[in-house]
Amino acid sequence: MSATGYYNGEIGPIESMRVPMNDRAVYFGDGCYEAGLAVNGRLFRRDAHFDRFYRSLAGLRIPFALSREALQREIDRCLAASGEPYASVYWQVSRGTDARHHTFPDETVSPNLLITVSPKAPDLSGAPMKLLTVPDVRFFMCNVKTLNLIPNILAIQQAKEAGADEAVLHRDGVVTEGSHTNIHIIRDGALFTHPLDRLILPGVTRGVLLELCRAQGIAVYETPFTIDEMKRADEVLITSSILGIHRASMIDGAPVENRADALYRALVSAYRDCFCGEMRI
Ligand code: PLP
Repeated sequence: MSATGYYNGEIGPIESMRVPMNDRAVYFGDGCYEAGLAVNGRLFRRDAHFDRFYRSLAGLRIPFALSREALQREIDRCLAASGEPYASVYWQVSRGTDARHHTFPDETVSPNLLITVSPKAPDLSGAPMKLLTVPDVRFFMCNVKTLNLIPNILAIQQAKEAGADEAVLHRDGVVTEGSHTNIHIIRDGALFTHPLDRLILPGVTRGVLLELCRAQGIAVYETPFTIDEMKRADEVLITSSILGIHRASMIDGAPVENRADALYRALVSAYRDCFCGEMRI
C-alpha cells in the first residue's frame, strides 16, 4: 500500500500531492513536525505528541489556528483514508506560503498543514543496534521539533556508511541524544538520561521509559553522561516513537557488554505491554 498524503485539507495518494514552491518549509524548513505510530486509527501517546507539537509551534511563534480537536479530526481523516491498521503518522506545520524573505509573512498568510500516513508495524522486538559517536553540531533549540534536520541527517548518514544503525551525538564528549532517538544508559541498576534542556528533544518514548523505570522501582537520574561512561555502561538504550526501545550491541565498532540483560528485557516487555494495552491489541 502506498502512503496517504494531506495538504491543507486535500487528501490523496502521496505521489499525486503537491506543495507550493513558496511554502516556507521548502526553502527555510520554517516549521515543526511530529511523528508517531497508530494502530486501528489510534495514535500511541497522542496527548504527549500534541503537547510537544503545540510547544514547538509556540517556540517558533507560528500562529497555527487549528485546535487540538480540529487537528485530531484532520489526522483521523487521513488515517481513515489510508485504511492502514498499522501506520506511522507524520504531520508538519510551516509558517505559510509567501515570497522568500527571512522575516515572517504578514498576518494574512496562514500556516500550512501537511500530513502523511504510511504503513508501519510497531517494532516491539527490542533488537540490538550498532551506534557510532558523532560530534553534535546542532543549534540550541533541539527541544523544538523543527524541520531543520541537516546535522541529524549528516550524522546518521555517517553512521550508516560506517556500518552502524544510529549516530550518538555528543558535545565535547558529553552525550546528548541520537540523530533521531534519545539515548540512555543503565549502570548499577539505575537509568541515566540527559536532562530536558535546549540540547535534546523531549522524546515521548523517553517519557514512557522513565515511567516504566519508576513503576519497576528503577532509579532514574536525569543527568548527562560522557561517551566513556556510555561505553562502560551495563546497557545503552535507544528510544523513539517509531523504533520503540532498543539496546546497543556495538559502539564505535566495540561490543557493549549487555550486563543488565534481565533489567533490559523487563523494560522491553513492559513497553510492549504498555503499547499493546493502550492500542488495545
Ligand atoms: N531525538 C530526536 C532528535 C528525534 O528526532 C527523535 C524522534 O524523532 C527523538 C529524539 C525521539 O523522540 P520520540 O520518542 O518522541 O519519537
